[in-house]
Amino acid sequence: MTLSDEEYHKIMEIDSFDYYEAFNYFFKKEKEIGLNLKDINSNLEKLSLSPKMHELFDYIRQNKSKYDLLLLSGDIDYSIKYLLKHHNFLDLFSYMICNKAEIQDDKSERIIYVKRDQFPHDCDLCISSQCKGLELEKFLKGKKYEKILFVCDGGNDFCPAKKLMKKGDIVFPREGHRFLKRIEIEDLKNDLTCDIVPWKTGEDIINKHMVIIKESANILSEEGDLITNIKGVGKVQNFTLDDYIDGLENIVDKKLDMYQEIKNKIKKYRKAKILNGKS
Ligand SMILES: [Zn+2]
Repeated sequence: MTLSDEEYHKIMEIDSFDYYEAFNYFFKKEKEIGLNLKDINSNLEKLSLSPKMHELFDYIRQNKSKYDLLLLSGDIDYSIKYLLKHHNFLDLFSYMICNKAEIQDDKSERIIYVKRDQFPHDCDLCISSQCKGLELEKFLKGKKYEKILFVCDGGNDFCPAKKLMKKGDIVFPREGHRFLKRIEIEDLKNDLTCDIVPWKTGEDIINKHMVIIKESANILSEEGDLITNIKGVGKVQNFTLDDYIDGLENIVDKKLDMYQEIKNKIKKYRKAKILNGKS
């Protein structure tokens, strides 16, 4: 049992697609036709993840120590958590920012209602129920990451990509969805400084990430070449000190952020040791 196509269209047309209004309308309609939590759960179980997304999540699980996984969504926490748990991927996410739902009548498990707990915002890039840029900004405060990889699809994902992602970060907008359509219609491509890599399947994302890992390996081999060349045992003949300095500066620029992060970790480790009285 589910809502009619006509009902779904009405929800999708709610003024500028305010999630709060849309979900409450959706739950009201579900209640009217007698859907309970079991029906909602069974509908969620019928949803499948995008092609090759299982492989992407498996890859992230194998490399979990390298990632902090944040789920940032205008959807409600109930359905996201249920779906991810159903596919055994819920534990992969260290952080989750989404709209809250609660079971209104737990005796009959009749319906879930959205609880608005987001702060109001005045961002003109976002819908009224949530500014993803503001949410990501709050999340990133006090944290330092080598790179932000942002897999998304919605028009409301443009705001965090524009405001918080810089050169070297990558946004992965899903092909055929609102993010890419918005960029095209509103001519916003030049507003983004991060790389844009459209995706169709989870495999596209893994492939791009492999390229990044390769780049890191290339830097290491460049460093090796610099040393052998300046010692006069490398492939380049007449390698001058200026050549070495130029090459070194290039590498240092690339790696500075990485080393800064390691330094912060060392500081944190020493501080924690002192606080624990183990120094
Ligand atoms: Zn915004």
